[in-house]
Amino acid sequence: MHSKTFVLTLAVLCASAAGAKDFSGARALEFTAKAVSFGERPPDSPAIHRLQAYIIGQLKLRGATVTEDKFTAAAPQGPVPMMNIIAKFPGTSGKAIVISGHYDTKTIPKFVGANDGGSSTGFLLEMAEALQGAPRKDDVYLVFFDGEEAYGEWTDTNSLYGSRHLADKWGTDGMLPKIKALINVDMIGDKDLGLAWNSGSAASIQQLVWNTADRLGFSHNFLHDGGVTGDDHVPFIQKGVKALDLIDFDYGPNNAYWHTPQDTVDKLSGQSLQVVGTVLQAVIPELEAQ
Ligand SMILES: [Zn+2]
Repeated sequence: MHSKTFVLTLAVLCASAAGAKDFSGARALEFTAKAVSFGERPPDSPAIHRLQAYIIGQLKLRGATVTEDKFTAAAPQGPVPMMNIIAKFPGTSGKAIVISGHYDTKTIPKFVGANDGGSSTGFLLEMAEALQGAPRKDDVYLVFFDGEEAYGEWTDTNSLYGSRHLADKWGTDGMLPKIKALINVDMIGDKDLGLAWNSGSAASIQQLVWNTADRLGFSHNFLHDGGVTGDDHVPFIQKGVKALDLIDFDYGPNNAYWHTPQDTVDKLSGQSLQVVGTVLQAVIPELEAQ
């Protein structure tokens, strides 16, 4: 009885000291399922327009300052209207931490992108829930990229439409030098979560995230092999931002669920989203201390 009271008191003290909610993987999975329920979500589709309204509404509910970053992408088939969604949770230091992911899905018949497009969306929405009302030093931005996917074959100019646009924009409006770190998440919901070591990412940020994962007991989810991935962190790396891509690029037997109609919510696990959320929640104060 006595020890139970003690534990309870301690838990309450910890929660109030941090002033923050713990990231919930279960809720992140619910947000992911909600995003997927809109159907196939290529840029400028009716479904992505409904999802945009949903994301913006959810972010505003949680007190974020929301910017609709609209632009026209030069796609191979012609111009496509796209929109990044940027949520800001302000701090006081003048420095910024960015957590990003894409919310569009690749144009493939019957492809709903539960992991690829859905998991990053659900993750970021739950991150907004966890950030809401928490005291912080640095500005924390959550960025939902549009147009990550290529139309057909991936090339440097046919992919990463949203992140290329925002890296250019932030390169001219004075934002880039404020960014201490940009951490991009992509395909982080697989039940069998193995995040690749990314040699194209900023080594210091990668080491910080991997060390934090080790400390929290998640070493088995953070691998020590991988390669270079083309993802939304790249346009920022190219402009000198310390950016990291957190991606599990082994999805189903021989990656069979990737970019196929088999990429559905039943392949995902809230526990995987929990691992990434818990680690990044611990990484934010580490970055703030730098
Ligand atoms: Zn994809």
